[in-house]
Amino acid sequence: MTNVLKFKWYRSILLAFFALLICLGLNNLNLQPTQATNPPNPDSIEVAQTAWRYGSFPVENFQSYTSAFGYRLSPVDGQRQFHNGLDMAAPIGSYVRNWWTGKVIQVSDHTACGTSVIVESGPWQHVYCHLEGHVETGAKGSYLIDRNGGLQIWQGQEVPVGSRIGRVGMTGRTTGPHLHWALKYNGSYIDPALVLKEMFKQQA
Ligand SMILES: [Zn+2]
Repeated sequence: MTNVLKFKWYRSILLAFFALLICLGLNNLNLQPTQATNPPNPDSIEVAQTAWRYGSFPVENFQSYTSAFGYRLSPVDGQRQFHNGLDMAAPIGSYVRNWWTGKVIQVSDHTACGTSVIVESGPWQHVYCHLEGHVETGAKGSYLIDRNGGLQIWQGQEVPVGSRIGRVGMTGRTTGPHLHWALKYNGSYIDPALVLKEMFKQQA
């Protein structure tokens, strides 16, 4: 991030903070520090508007949204289930981009999510499922390895916003190539479409 962007970021957070104070009538003053790498709080979408523009759309060569967040009938077994993310179809091998600067807290390849990465940015966790490659564990820890994509993503490493952290694949339980993208805020799943909407408002 350039210094100019950083400056704008801090300024927008500051503005958002004061707007929030005014909204709250200066009650309940909360002086927790805000990390520059944190995405906005979904409860203050209106006041932190300008911050959303710094998120990255999570997949290259995006084609369509194939399944929304919420209850649905499973495309795999027809059972009613809670779909905790947003499915974004893209050709197999398309690069997946990190939504927000953060730290890789998990790489995995043994669940229905398939080869996957979880990144933590402040109170947010962003989950990327069904990627190409697999997980290997060595003396220095675990990492996702996708040789054809030229990617090696270590558990514990910092990943900048927009960086390539995987490629769309067919690992885990899936009927076609897509990115299953899930977002957790303070441990609860939220609809990624709401976040994308805020990003689009700012980036349009
Ligand atoms: Zn999904």
